[in-house]
Amino acid sequence: MRECHQEISRWLEALGVSARIDAAGNIRALYPAEHPNAPRLLIGSHLDTVPNAGAYDGILGVVLAIALLEELRGRRLPFAIEVVGFSEEEGVRFGTPFIGSRALAGTLDQQLLAVHDTRGISVRNAIEEFGLNPDEISHALMAEQTLGYIEFHIEQGPVLEKLNLPLAAVEAIAGQSRLQFTFLGRANHAGTTPMHLRCDAIAGAAEWIGAVERLAHEIPGLVATVGKIEAKPGATNVIAGEARLTLDVRHRSDEVRIRAVDDLIQQARTLADRRGLSVRESTLLSQQAVAMDPFLIGEIQKAIAQTGCRPHCMVSGAGHDAMILAEKVPSAMIFLRTPGGISHDPAESVTPDDVEKAIACGLHLLDQLVASREFLQRTNRA
Ligand SMILES: [Zn+2]
Repeated sequence: MRECHQEISRWLEALGVSARIDAAGNIRALYPAEHPNAPRLLIGSHLDTVPNAGAYDGILGVVLAIALLEELRGRRLPFAIEVVGFSEEEGVRFGTPFIGSRALAGTLDQQLLAVHDTRGISVRNAIEEFGLNPDEISHALMAEQTLGYIEFHIEQGPVLEKLNLPLAAVEAIAGQSRLQFTFLGRANHAGTTPMHLRCDAIAGAAEWIGAVERLAHEIPGLVATVGKIEAKPGATNVIAGEARLTLDVRHRSDEVRIRAVDDLIQQARTLADRRGLSVRESTLLSQQAVAMDPFLIGEIQKAIAQTGCRPHCMVSGAGHDAMILAEKVPSAMIFLRTPGGISHDPAESVTPDDVEKAIACGLHLLDQLVASREFLQRTNRA
């Protein structure tokens, strides 16, 4: 990370912009406005990544922010641009994502500083070991006069490639439910127990998995996944007495997501009753959807159209720093097509043409925001 900071600082210095590292390990650089004390626009993404990663998830959004400054060629705008490279988005080390962006939003609290990695080192210790002062986290808070946050990011999915489009505006980051279901039946001999006298937990679970898939197909925008199944006792010649499954449901609307989960719980109970099984479920996670800012979404769509592409709006199924910053300032994202939909893998890629389109889109967006009285009158909601 230190080398990464040094490299990025060098790129920024070449543009006459100096960078600093805040107490949460985020790189921050301010490209000044026409006038001192002008409000600022944040543009950035994260610098960390996952093991065995690709080369674009996160970092591309920081590089694009720097490319935009470069393209401005010293031109000053009525707002400053603060480039941010977040330190810890993926949550690989501490199991908790968005540590860097939480510092800007003011939600990196004592509880989070006390979280440990697998070697017993806390976030607080790690910050100290890096040569930063965790007691100065409050100074990492975003400036009061922040107009908004824009993040370029690879889509990490196949949608834009399928539509043959290079870019999209993100309208919302999907909410997410994670549950565990256990179907209980009666284990018995696979040879001697007639079919009509069985209470087969796996057969019940299988019927329910079909229902999960059917419901997700019926409801536009819903994705539902049973990603894991374990059965007991787990032998070829034994009817399963227990089947344990996970359920992951995501949608841009919390109402639709919660209704779908309720429906699937009801369907599990009904079919369990009919089959002489019992079922119990527990909720592991229920995370709300985060809407992106409607004004910025509209401006991004216009900017995409200006590059000669058809504007498209989509929901992000994955979480991003923008969902943390959206708690405090109007936020929006621009997705770039991901060839093959492959991400979190060395095969992850982007095409130079799409990156060129993203830079053009960013420049149109800046021009539109400069010309927008509505935008310039905005101040930090917090
Ligand atoms: Zn990312």
